[in-house]
Amino acid sequence: MIYLNGDFMPIEEARIPVLDRGFIFGDGVYEVIPVYSRKPFRLAEHLLRLQHSLDGIRLSNPHSDKKWSELLEQIIAGNESDDQSLYLHVTRGVARREHAFPKGVMPTVFIMSNPLLAPPEELLATGVAAITANDNRWLRCDIKAISLLPNVLLRQMATDVGAIETVLLREGFMTEGAASNIFVIKEGILLAPPKNHLMLPGITYDVVLELAAANEIPHEVREVSEYEVRTAEEILLTSSTKEIMPITRLDDKPVGDGKPGTMFTLLHQLYQNYKSTVMRGNANVSAF
Ligand code: PMP
Repeated sequence: MIYLNGDFMPIEEARIPVLDRGFIFGDGVYEVIPVYSRKPFRLAEHLLRLQHSLDGIRLSNPHSDKKWSELLEQIIAGNESDDQSLYLHVTRGVARREHAFPKGVMPTVFIMSNPLLAPPEELLATGVAAITANDNRWLRCDIKAISLLPNVLLRQMATDVGAIETVLLREGFMTEGAASNIFVIKEGILLAPPKNHLMLPGITYDVVLELAAANEIPHEVREVSEYEVRTAEEILLTSSTKEIMPITRLDDKPVGDGKPGTMFTLLHQLYQNYKSTVMRGNANVSAF
């Protein structure tokens, strides 16, 4: 069951007009929210980031947080899996094709759910391969825009060579992955690039840094150079759907000793513990 502009329906029945500005211009923003045991994870943070993205494209939020939560609850209830990945999408609506914003147009609001599958144990045991590429995206990567063509092309470069992610480098520094945030471990210290216009402020990125702080894991939020990426002891990828994964090959060379390292093992365990605490309802999802 999906939600489209006020109605719930099976996805096969959902239709939008071809003049939707999402279709014509990619003029919209989105969110992906993981749901564990039918509870959305870090909902408040995802809704805050949605607001940031909407502000970034100068589109007013069609719903209050309360209304969003109600709609999401209905979608969760209307879908089979206990663990789901909620996708919500807002565009500037339907109007004659003209770049400037149309007046008096209702935004298009779409929500769907897919089963959320944890990364397979085998992949976590061996780690995954990634490549690097020049980050040729625009300078507002903090907006979770539906216009993802650069990300699509960058991710496909990885897929073409059997890797799972593309680590992006801009002017000698790492920004993030094509669809994930990236952490680097150097001399035992967890390094994270600072949140700015060059990367998406990942919700999982925040969880990892909070876990590091709460557990006295040495960490620094600062620019990470290409050299540090290429000589890292470990590289980690994070996202709401992939959680934390170890990158053990980069550009066909082993990262460190080519096996998932101790920082991965520790953070993965802490993340699983934190998740299960949240799922049991003993923790406020908004505050660690
Ligand atoms: N960066 C990009 C470009 C992404 O698309 C994503 C999400 N797929 C992330 C980072 C990770 O963000 P989150 O942890 O909120 O899923």
